[in-house]
Amino acid sequence: MKLAENLNVLFSEEVLQARVRILGAQIASDYQGRDLVLVGVLKGSFIFLADLARAIDLPLSIDFVGLSSYGDATETSGVVQITTDLTRPIVGKDVVVVEDIVDTGLTMKYLLENLETRHPRSVRVCSLLTKPSRARVQVPVSYLGFSIEDKFVVGYGLDRAGLYRNLPFVAEVK
Ligand code: 5GP
Repeated sequence: MKLAENLNVLFSEEVLQARVRILGAQIASDYQGRDLVLVGVLKGSFIFLADLARAIDLPLSIDFVGLSSYGDATETSGVVQITTDLTRPIVGKDVVVVEDIVDTGLTMKYLLENLETRHPRSVRVCSLLTKPSRARVQVPVSYLGFSIEDKFVVGYGLDRAGLYRNLPFVAEVK
């Protein structure tokens, strides 16, 4: 793919694919015999989820939630609205929430509290990226791709103003 000049690649396609395979193997070993549901957070997780699901050698189902936060373009306010809800109940299920990036943690905190009210058997988080220096609330990420510094990143599902999601790598916008 032609590289835009303002992008600095942080994680190449090969590095991402290798990490996703490891995460998938970990989840497969932890959830054997369980009723696993992957819940992808739209839109940013869709490519990560597609690769992760294929790296988990177990029967599983997949659902999505859409969230929007009332912040400005780059900062979450913590006030979150569910714009697309799950299509099936998760009562009694083992849920792994699949997210592109946990930044302040406010979005994930809200989502986890909301999911708990639906009485799943368990809920864990799998995030491709975290920015620990930006955390405002602690969110346990059981399955983590990579920690990054306080940089705005795009690609592999992550966008800026709707663009860049289809890049096969993760890059910093300079
Ligand atoms: P939080 O509530 O943790 O602050 O925000 C999480 C959401 O903010 C992510 O799901 C993502 O949509 C967005 N976000 C945070 N950091 C970045 C980033 O570096 N790049 C992109 N594209 N989105 C980000």
